[in-house]
Amino acid sequence: MDAGLSVYGHSADPFSLTGGIVLNIQWYPGHMTKAKRAMKEDIRLIDLIIELVDARAPLASRNPDIDELGKGKARLILLNKSDLAEERWNAAWSGWFQEKGFYVMEVNSRSGNGLKRIGSVVADACREKLERDRRRGILNRPVRAMVVGIPNVGKSTFINSFAGKACTKTGNKPGVTKGNQWIRLNKTLELLDTPGILWPKFEDQKVGLLLAMLGSINDEILNREELAAELLKLMKIRYPEAIKERYGMPSAEDFMKEENTDSAAMLEKVAEVRSCLMKGGEFDLAKAAGIVIDDFRSGRLGRITLEVPEEKEAEKTGKAAAK
Ligand code: GDP
Repeated sequence: MDAGLSVYGHSADPFSLTGGIVLNIQWYPGHMTKAKRAMKEDIRLIDLIIELVDARAPLASRNPDIDELGKGKARLILLNKSDLAEERWNAAWSGWFQEKGFYVMEVNSRSGNGLKRIGSVVADACREKLERDRRRGILNRPVRAMVVGIPNVGKSTFINSFAGKACTKTGNKPGVTKGNQWIRLNKTLELLDTPGILWPKFEDQKVGLLLAMLGSINDEILNREELAAELLKLMKIRYPEAIKERYGMPSAEDFMKEENTDSAAMLEKVAEVRSCLMKGGEFDLAKAAGIVIDDFRSGRLGRITLEVPEEKEAEKTGKAAAK
């Protein structure tokens, strides 16, 4: 068995109002070493890395190891699923990544929104390479790019959408040998047909939780009721009106009352409002949890950003100060 990563509960971070997360995430990266080696090979062939992150949690959904792997390559970050995240935070994250030297675009790979501009951004990102080519007398060699990202971030959807046809299969497995097929998008850009799959990085409990909420970790290895309860708790802090609207929960002020801080009680409330009852008349919390998770992932709870840049900075400053 590969060395596994586990994230065990009981943290006192802001995600846990009651300080008692008992979420138990165990995740085995499987063939990731092999996948990493394959990716290293592929990266040698390309000029540009197109890295997809989930706009709802852009840092939790990226693996910074790609920075080391992709040294010397042009870098473009796509804030994908931007349709599901709050616009003001999309803009804030764009600025945050730009400051770090990345080219950034907000996109919705499913609808194709935001993809039109990509050609000119790629040209900007690869200007140095193109000029180097020209100086060496190499004309019209297309930029070669590779799409990377953690599972479920939208890599296949992006490639299909961008290339305008169904040219990749969804559900790629890490470490699968590939024949390096190139998709010629136009005269100036070629894309490696198989995306590079990055493994999610569990820095801490909070990252594990965010990834679970986004659906990047297989639901089968999670306790969905606890996950839904955590999601409700987080929503209560950030988007109280959204859950009030959807599940008829108490207003923002009521939420702050002592008796309403229990996330399990919140899930029961959803079960009650949605008539999720078992045969004996008990609440069907598993069903209620499914409703909450699906509502969030599909955008029915509105546009939600789970991770915001200021917090990250504040956290880092806090850690540095504590050293
Ligand atoms: P991959 O594992 O990275 O290749 O991810 P997929 O391309 O299979 O996408 C995972 C899920 O996210 C699918 O259900 C897609 O329809 C959905 N998806 C991908 N991009 C977007 C997007 O920009 N917006 C929304 N709302 N859904 C997206």
